[in-house]
Amino acid sequence: MANGQGPDAGERGNMNPTSVEDKLAVNKFDIDRDVHIKVNDRICQKCQEHPCLYTCPASCFKLMEGHITFSYEGCLECGSCRIACDKGAIEWILPRPGFGICYEYG
Ligand code: SF4
Ligand code: SF4
Repeated sequence: MANGQGPDAGERGNMNPTSVEDKLAVNKFDIDRDVHIKVNDRICQKCQEHPCLYTCPASCFKLMEGHITFSYEGCLECGSCRIACDKGAIEWILPRPGFGICYEYG
């Protein structure tokens, strides 16, 4: 800040807006071999709305050829899917201590 009123042109030029994907890429994961989220496929087959697809910030849920697939490896441990799924298809616990995501950006 050159004059105390905000960033000057040079500083603005150095500002580098970072995408969500870029921010997610700096997180570190120590993947637990014990799966901490289980999704009941039989319940998902009867689900029409798939709110999990739209609430998971890490895109752990995908719709492939009409079926929901889930991978826990990139999970951010936010718990959104547990709230979004109103069919009781999700069993959710935290990974064991020392495993899971390590946030670089707090
Ligand atoms: S919202 Fe629940 S039941 Fe529906 S597809 Fe997602 S996990 Fe399965
Ligand atoms: S806890 Fe969050 S990041 Fe992990 S699968 Fe559920 S919605 Fe996605």
